[in-house]
Amino acid sequence: MSAPGVQVNVPVTVGEPRPRWCRTCKADTAVAVDVLALFPAGVARVATVAVCELCDDPEDPEAHRG
Ligand SMILES: [Zn+2]
Repeated sequence: MSAPGVQVNVPVTVGEPRPRWCRTCKADTAVAVDVLALFPAGVARVATVAVCELCDDPEDPEAHRG
């Protein structure tokens, strides 16, 4: 069974984790990582995922931008 249309298979990787301010904990307890897509033409950031290691509250205000 073959699917119609074009299949896009782009490898993705994650960037360097960096500390991020957590408003709930009021401390730098969150970690943000960029999700990068490796296109042949270059690298594009497709999302930023931020998770607090204490309250585990995902917040990604930059993820839906652009
Ligand atoms: Zn927190």
